[in-house]
Amino acid sequence: MATIFQKIIDKQIPADIVYEDDQCLAFRDINPQAPTHVLVIPKREIKSIDALSPSDGPLIGHLFVVVRQIAQQLGLSDGYRTVINCGRDGGQSVDHIHIHLLAGRSLSWPPG
Ligand code: 5GP
Repeated sequence: MATIFQKIIDKQIPADIVYEDDQCLAFRDINPQAPTHVLVIPKREIKSIDALSPSDGPLIGHLFVVVRQIAQQLGLSDGYRTVINCGRDGGQSVDHIHIHLLAGRSLSWPPG
């Protein structure tokens, strides 16, 4: 069954898209945890960090280059945080790997 993110990639359900290219899509999180909360996902479904293979390296690297590009595009000059939740204890709720880009407030550490 298609994940909610696959449906967003396929434009079956709407999303507030901030960036798109042939390899990835970035859109605003529906339940933002900071003033800026964007999700960056590959168009090819990879379920989680645990499902990565060595050949995925360039794609994952590309996602982080896109994070930097979005940070510039959105003017996040005071900094930001990237998070990739993995598995149950990591708090992953959608089985399609995604980078959270959080910004717009001072973020505490350690996370909960
Ligand atoms: P995870 O918990 O897997 O790390 O992150 C999944 C994220 O996807 C959550 O922050 C959640 O708010 C977001 N999300 C879930 N469903 C939708 C949706 O339909 N649209 C958007 N834009 N974000 C979603």
